[in-house]
Amino acid sequence: MLPVKKTSKSRTRTRRSHHRLRPVNYSLCKQCGTAKLPHAACGQCGYVNEKITLKLAEEAES
Ligand SMILES: [Zn+2]
Repeated sequence: MLPVKKTSKSRTRTRRSHHRLRPVNYSLCKQCGTAKLPHAACGQCGYVNEKITLKLAEEAES
């Protein structure tokens, strides 16, 4: 099967107008202030919210 009509430049470009990537949204950790993804644990200190703070493994050399 082939498309009945050729898709116009305008239609193609209008469709692709939504294809751009949006910048990643970061929030700041309440405890240490580093940038982290919202609803995710902080990579530096493991802080999630007042009730939950993950215990991160200490690095081997310290
Ligand atoms: Zn943190």
